[in-house]
Parts: sequence; C-alpha cells; structure tokens
Amino acid sequence: MERIIAGKTAAQWQAEYPIITRLMRGEETLWPNPKRRPIEQARAACPLTMADIEDAAARLARFAPYFCEAFPETRATGGLLESPLVEIPRMKARLNAALPGRLMIKLDSRLPVSGSIKARGGIYEVLKTAEDIAAAHGMLPPGQDYTVFASEAMRALLSGYSVAVGSTGNLGLSIGIMSAKLGFSATVHMSADARQWKKDMLREKGVRVIEYASDYSAAVAQGRREAQGDPTCHFVDDENSQTLFLGYAVAALRLRDQLKAQGIAVDAEHPLCVYLPCGVGGGPGGVAFGLRQVFGDDVHCWFAEPTHACCMLLGMATGAHNRLCVQDFGIDNRTIADGLAVGRASGFVGRLMEPFIDGCYTLRDAHMSRLLFELFDAERIALEPSALAGMAGPAKLRALGALPAHMEQGTHIVWATGGGMVPPEEMRKYIDEGRRQLSEQQQ
Ligand SMILES: *Cc1c(COP(=O)(O)O)cnc(C)c1O
Repeated sequence: MERIIAGKTAAQWQAEYPIITRLMRGEETLWPNPKRRPIEQARAACPLTMADIEDAAARLARFAPYFCEAFPETRATGGLLESPLVEIPRMKARLNAALPGRLMIKLDSRLPVSGSIKARGGIYEVLKTAEDIAAAHGMLPPGQDYTVFASEAMRALLSGYSVAVGSTGNLGLSIGIMSAKLGFSATVHMSADARQWKKDMLREKGVRVIEYASDYSAAVAQGRREAQGDPTCHFVDDENSQTLFLGYAVAALRLRDQLKAQGIAVDAEHPLCVYLPCGVGGGPGGVAFGLRQVFGDDVHCWFAEPTHACCMLLGMATGAHNRLCVQDFGIDNRTIADGLAVGRASGFVGRLMEPFIDGCYTLRDAHMSRLLFELFDAERIALEPSALAGMAGPAKLRALGALPAHMEQGTHIVWATGGGMVPPEEMRKYIDEGRRQLSEQQQ
C-alpha cells in the first residue's frame, strides 16, 4: 500500500501541486506567493502587532547598559546588538551590472556576541527569560539599572535555572553563549549537520552539548521532551516561539533608522526588496514581518532555501505547512548550508507569514558556493554558505520579471545571516570550494 502523507499519497500531492515535482528533481525553483495581501488586510489577519515589536525593542534597550559592561565590543553601538548595512557595487557588477536598483548587504555576520542572525532572536529570548526570573524574585524594582545582570547575586539566582535548545548550530551558539554569560546552565541539542567547531566552542564555554545522528527536527523534539516537566528549565522552541520571532522582528526598526541615516528612501517610487535565507523560518519570518509593519506595501520580502532543504517553500506552496517535510518526497535535507538544513518548517511562522511575504525560491549548493567566492573576491566579505542564499535573489527575480515597478530607483538588501564566528581555516575551505565551483562552471 502507498504511504499516506498528511492525508494523501505523494502522487496525489504532486498532481495537485506540480511544483513539488520540480522540488523533487532538485531544480532551482521560484514560487511567488499568491496569498500576499496589502498591509492593512495582512495586519487584520495577524495576532502580532507593531506594539509587540516595540515592546521587544524596549526590552533590548533596557539591557543595553548590561551589554556595555558584559560585552565591551557592544559599546560602539550603545549596548545594542546591531550590524552594518553597506552597498556592494563590485558584487553588483559581478551579478549583472544591468540589475536595476542599488545592491546592499545587511551584515548580520558581524553581529556581536555570536556572529549570526541568531544573535537577534536567540539572545532576546534568553534575556526575556532572565528578566522574568529576576522580576519574580524582586530583583528588578522600578528604575533598576540592568547592569545588575552582571552581578554575582544575579548569577547566583540564575544558576538555579537552565536554558535548553535544539539547533543546527548558530542558534545553539547564541543561546549557549548568552545563557552561560548570565549564569544559567545551558544545554544545546545539536543536529548531525552542526559543525564540529561550533560544538567545541560551546563546550569551552561550559555549555552541555548533546549530539544527534539525525537531523534538526529530531534534535528539537528530544530537547523539548527533556525540558518538559522541569519547571526550572526554559526550552527555546525554535519551531513555535513567539518571543524568538519578535526578537528577530526588531531588526526592522533598526533597518528603518539605518536607511534613513544613509538617505535611502523607501516608498512607492523607491521599492525595497529583501532576500532572507530561511531554515525553520523564525529568523527570516520575524525580520520580514517587522519590515512589512514598517514599510507596508513598499517592501518585498523573499525567503531563500537550498534545493535540498526547501521546507518553507513546500509548506507554503501547498498550504500544508509543518504537516509536510521534504523527506516525505525523497528530498534529503543534505546541504552545505548547515544553518538552513531543516526538513520541516515552522507551522507557526509559515501560517503567520502567508499574507506578508512575496514568495520563496531555492538555489543549489554549488550556486551558493560560487556566490560565496564571488562576494569574497569582489568585496572581501567572508560569509558562511547559508548566508549567501539571499544573494541569488535579485538576478532570479529579474530573469523572471518578478521585480516590482520602479526598481531602477529602488534598493535590494541581501541579508547576510552568518559567518562571523567561522574559524579562519574553515573559511579558507569554503572560499577554495567556491573558487573551484566557479572555475568548473566556466569550463
Ligand atoms: C538559522 C539561520 C538562518 C535561518 O533562520 P531560521 O530561523 O532557521 O529560518 C539563516 N542563516 C543562518 C546563517 C542561520 O544560522
């Protein structure tokens, strides 16, 4: 008998959604989202609001004095974890000089503390957990300076609590480093894709690392199970956490200020296209959600995934979200983009994002690898493979006629989601591999 997947056979799913056959063949695919709605309608359908993002931003502002003390490298930004937004004209020339609009990159690889986009959501959730515990113990009277989080008394309090998370690597790094710094005991459940150096780095910081032979979804499920029934353990649930999502969304408020400071307009005549690498969905989802709240219909957000880990495209195109995983269709979830090696997307994020995003696309590992080399060669910016997924977006949209009107006066932002902690010898290997892939393609 044929296997039934969420109520249908694979053949029935394919007949109903022909795009699945393309995904199964490993072809690079672009899916424009027919459910995108004008901002007023999108807002009306959504339980989260701008007020929730502002609440998260205010919490991060309260912690800023603590960061200045605990992580002196954050003093330059007043204790906020933020990354540069820069134009990359030489890379634009390599991609296609005729590409309409300005090409920029958002360098989350340079976020302090953990060098990836996970420093937004992951750290935010640890801070909120610490704040809740401290408040419940009377350690945050009105007007309390948050440098108290660097005190021995606070560390002693938090050492009675633990934080756990399942991760392909970068979320584990962010949660592990932040938790350990505050005094929590921390456990990270790492999937098979996680790089060895990430595990080593965490263990050095006193974090308990549990390794799995299986993929991300299994690591998360096991972490969730272990944390259940322990009231002193907070499990950061990457698949379902609203807190994590809102931490990521704060990026939109910061980007608004950065664009303004650089004199870059975003309006109907100056559209903004943003390309976000997508794993389980929380990072790109939170950022895109925030951007639509800030820029309304003038921003166009695209999610980018490896052909072998196209879970969000699969979930959104079918509307089945987390009821389907890529392995259901024989897609193996094996990719050099370890940060995106997720077979089943977050159902919470996929459903929430339906009216907000413009679509999803996939790209091959070799393509990501070539872009990694080209960006390094052209701009001397070194990123991990996952962080290049967005770079394919502008040319793809142009080739398919999917760019918005007035794009010649608009701006593309490629969200460079990570790479800041990659050891130099690992980075060297990534760059060499990219060079090899490029020369192979040119032959
Ligand atoms: C985690 C991660 C992403 C994607 O974020 P999700 O919340 O998993 O969708 C993208 N790039 C890098 C480098 C990451 O570590």
